[in-house]
Amino acid sequence: MLDLYGRNIDYLRISITDKCNFRCKYCMPEERVATLMNNEILTFDEIIKICKSASKLGIQKIKVTGGEPLLRDDVTDLIRSIKELPLVKNVTLTTNGVFLYDKIHDLKKAGINSINISLDTLIKEKFKDITRRDKFDEVIRGIKETQNIGVKIKINSVPIKNFNFDEIVNIAAISKDKNIDVRFIEMMPIGLGESFKGISSIEILNILEKEYGKFSRLEEANGNGPAVYYKNEQFKGHIGFISAVSNEFCENCNRIRITADGFLKPCLCYGTGLDLKGLIRNGINEKELTDEIKKGILSKPEQHEFNKENKSSNIEIKKMSQIGG
Ligand code: SAM
Ligand code: SF4
Repeated sequence: MLDLYGRNIDYLRISITDKCNFRCKYCMPEERVATLMNNEILTFDEIIKICKSASKLGIQKIKVTGGEPLLRDDVTDLIRSIKELPLVKNVTLTTNGVFLYDKIHDLKKAGINSINISLDTLIKEKFKDITRRDKFDEVIRGIKETQNIGVKIKINSVPIKNFNFDEIVNIAAISKDKNIDVRFIEMMPIGLGESFKGISSIEILNILEKEYGKFSRLEEANGNGPAVYYKNEQFKGHIGFISAVSNEFCENCNRIRITADGFLKPCLCYGTGLDLKGLIRNGINEKELTDEIKKGILSKPEQHEFNKENKSSNIEIKKMSQIGG
């Protein structure tokens, strides 16, 4: 359905857990992580109810996220059940990749359309530093297996000054020889991200053009949302940019988010939204749930205010692992 600013909202990111086996420095604190109690997290049935009601409003693409979604035992059944909803066309998952090797075969059977894997460095020691976990080899093994069995992969990488600036060319090169898209996501000033210095998309593009020559912008959509994609003659895959901070984001924003505790967030930037879990647990019916999600979509603000100095009082204070990215 269209929101108040004429944007077609057809994409839902639903977080199925706020727990994670990593502690990426820009996303989660090292210790004393306050996570939800099991009974606070959406159940299998509640997730399906929300996806079903959302699909009736024109949500056709659903991304399962977290925390780390592969930590949840019922993740494969969830993907299968979401995929079976008649109005849902595309179900994808974003993961840190540690459990991919074990789960990708079942995910493929369940009908997953593609997998996004987060990878900020290709250097094992630096991987351990940024994620605070020594799991680089497991992630690479998972990526290879996913590729071997023919599931579409997108690599998500957050460029960070003083961390992976010198690796941008190499990270992009993943999509040179393989039909894998690499997407650079600007660091957002949310939660711990606020104390990191990101690198703008235009700066990344300049670095890549110096190395590989001209990248031409693809006019047609190549993904689920506001990512802009580029093609270079030497590359089999595409390079994508999610310029959440610098540019071109809000006017193409087609998404709503549901946190692991069932809170509908119309915009990443603000803490406002609707407690869908509370409503479901109070016995709301399917039609009423659909109406509530519609209200949420119609309350989607025109723009974020990541760049504003004096931010509104309703600015989001959650960490990204609690939102789902
Ligand atoms: N654990 C899964 C993963 O890492 O893909 C799913 C959840 S994670 C919150 C989703 C995405 O959010 C990851 O690609 C991560 O790099 C990104 N992310 C986390 N904090 C961020 C920030 N402050 N700015 C930009 N992206 C961020
Ligand atoms: Fe976990 Fe993903 Fe956040 Fe890293 S980015 S701590 S893997 S939720």
